[in-house]
Amino acid sequence: MKSYLYPRLNLDISFADLAFGLFPWLSKSSVQNSSIIQDFSRNHKQVLVTLSVRTAFDLWLQALNLPKGTEVLMSAINIRDMQEIVKNHGLIPVPVDINLDTLAPDIELLKSLISPKSRVFVIAHLFGSIIDLEPIVEICQKHQILLVEDCAQAFCGTSYCGASSADVSLFSFGPIKSSTALGGAIACIQDSMIAEKMVTLAAEYPCRSELWFCQRVFKYWGLKVLSIPQVYVFLIGVKPRYAQNRTRCKEM
Ligand SMILES: *Cc1c(COP(=O)(O)O)cnc(C)c1O
Repeated sequence: MKSYLYPRLNLDISFADLAFGLFPWLSKSSVQNSSIIQDFSRNHKQVLVTLSVRTAFDLWLQALNLPKGTEVLMSAINIRDMQEIVKNHGLIPVPVDINLDTLAPDIELLKSLISPKSRVFVIAHLFGSIIDLEPIVEICQKHQILLVEDCAQAFCGTSYCGASSADVSLFSFGPIKSSTALGGAIACIQDSMIAEKMVTLAAEYPCRSELWFCQRVFKYWGLKVLSIPQVYVFLIGVKPRYAQNRTRCKEM
């Protein structure tokens, strides 16, 4: 009997999309004019395209230029880099535990963690869920806290373009995200002055070349081939033998 193994993560991109990625000139419209930007402009916010959510978040914090020691409340579950970015700006991340049934932060806990130094709350919509932000918006407005919604795991087409009351909404198209484009992010920014500063700052950044992107396409093409169940079962079978050899080498 043949057995197949399915890897836990499947890249959400087809081989046809990968092939298309190698010929960027086939796509006539520029990113800034693309329909996705038009759709995300629905909430009358400034829509920026960046290399990643982390780039956009870092640019936003630079543009904001908060005093050192300012506290940034954050959903307790997020990728480590988001917290590192906060720390790199001399700000203090304050984790807010989430309710594991709803994936939303505990409102009473959030209220208890707010201090006069709190200026930002980064709420993450996790594992494809979209949290109702209404009660949180109310608390943030009362305490003059800027609300950033991290939608890196919540892109679902244009049916959700971010909450109109959020100051920042961030969507990721990184390699392991749903509807990936192997990179890229959309940032919807409420404050147009801040958005303008972000654009100025981003213009100073080095550009990724087309060669860099082509290499990335090939890398993920390889990973996609390896994750085909019939291939993956073979790959997993190879690993123990390799591990055994390594142990033997150590014993010598
Ligand atoms: C992946 C992810 C990010 C980072 O997205 P990039 O576009 O890769 O920078 C941020 N937050 C969450 C919750 C994520 O899952």
